[in-house]
Amino acid sequence: MTDNASYETHETADAPGAASDKTTDFGYRAVPLTEKKPLVRAVFDSVASRYDVMNDLMSLGVHRVWKRMFNAQLAPQPGLSLLDLAGGTGDVTFGWLAGGGGPAIMTDINEKMLAVGRDRAIARGYVSDLSFCVVDAEQIPLADRSVDRVTISFGLRNCTDKLAVLKEARRVLKPGGRFMCLEFSQVQVAALAPVYDVWSFKVLPTMGQLIAKDRESYQYLAESIRMFPDQETLADMFREAGFAHVKYQSLSGGIAAIHSGWRL
Ligand code: SAM
Repeated sequence: MTDNASYETHETADAPGAASDKTTDFGYRAVPLTEKKPLVRAVFDSVASRYDVMNDLMSLGVHRVWKRMFNAQLAPQPGLSLLDLAGGTGDVTFGWLAGGGGPAIMTDINEKMLAVGRDRAIARGYVSDLSFCVVDAEQIPLADRSVDRVTISFGLRNCTDKLAVLKEARRVLKPGGRFMCLEFSQVQVAALAPVYDVWSFKVLPTMGQLIAKDRESYQYLAESIRMFPDQETLADMFREAGFAHVKYQSLSGGIAAIHSGWRL
């Protein structure tokens, strides 16, 4: 179901090496490398105000369970700092702070998503030990070896150069620091696959149309999940980026997975 090579960029055969010929996936479409970010931006500009309600509806609330498991493994501690990449509306950052974690930097490339997250933070009373920054996860504006934990939850799939994100995460981690990723993955229970396909390609776009008035963004969601590297491929990418003690745990029959790696 997953194209294991899809995290790589591709060059067309007739003009290898020409920058303009490099493409990447945007859902099932191959688009020029430079076009993916504006397309992803348009998706999240469009869904930002309805993002949280759609998450609950689309996953029937299960994303909250996955995020709780993710946070439990992240094991927040007061003396540790967190950089949350593609933090969106803040669930992972809030889990960290609620769990007693130290200073957090919540980041996203999209101002609208981050603004929803900021409003939610204020409503929850998270006003100290939290800063916000518009950041492209592929080029993190932090010094080498500056944070204890880096997270990305349902964000890596939307990035153009996924290996660059992993390398950047490792660069900014202190030695002994940990990077964790929560993302959709490859379903491993055969009986689940047909139901999941109908849910992804029929139900989700229809929900998107009815609730968020945006069918295309939820069609992209379903396609982008299928194009994302499977569990083993992503673990290999972690290793290629230099992480040690790489491991993963499939969730809900492989619908999602938690990957973890350490900077030695
Ligand atoms: N982390 C949140 C969560 O788990 O609910 C939000 C995930 S949302 C599906 C994906 C987020 O990735 C969006 O907010 C989007 O703006 C962000 N994103 C996409 N490309 C990015 C990039 N290159 N750098 C940082 N964030 C990016």
